[in-house]
Amino acid sequence: MLNRRLPKQITPLKFAQNEYKLVGRIAVGELDRLVEMLAGKEAEVALSLEFFLEDNRRPMITGELKAELPMICQRCLDVVCVSIQTEINLAVVWSEEQAKALPKDLDPLIMKDDTADLQQLVEDELLLSLPLVAYHENDRCHAGRVFSTDPNFDEVLPECGQKKLNPFSVLAQLKTDDQSIKES
Ligand SMILES: [Zn+2]
Repeated sequence: MLNRRLPKQITPLKFAQNEYKLVGRIAVGELDRLVEMLAGKEAEVALSLEFFLEDNRRPMITGELKAELPMICQRCLDVVCVSIQTEINLAVVWSEEQAKALPKDLDPLIMKDDTADLQQLVEDELLLSLPLVAYHENDRCHAGRVFSTDPNFDEVLPECGQKKLNPFSVLAQLKTDDQSIKES
């Protein structure tokens, strides 16, 4: 059976017993704690989560989260789009003791009761995988950008009084020509 909407609340044990699969998207604007870390909220998180019982007893949530999140580049202070792709490998437990007894490759999802908030779970995982500081890749960063109208800096300059090519005056000339055609 296909449900078109993601549930807000999940019951991991029941979901695992029924081997549910959640695939969908959450608007980043709904994740307040995450938005505080970002440079904007126009983004989506894609999630694909599977619920199952491991060894017929321990409820598990595995899958993947993907997002392209706007952050501030700490070098040039412009927006940089940070790609997040993170694996989910959660064992559902109900106490700290159970969490400590887990194999090292599993992260615990410690439950207070039977239900968990899906958005909160996704948000927690994203916050863990968000880089502390973001930077553009070197060749994309706006810091140290070179503005140039003359690529031939080392060439000899024209002598005084000689006509030289100025790209801006040529452009102005074109505009005036254009104007006169329309007017005539
Ligand atoms: Zn930058």
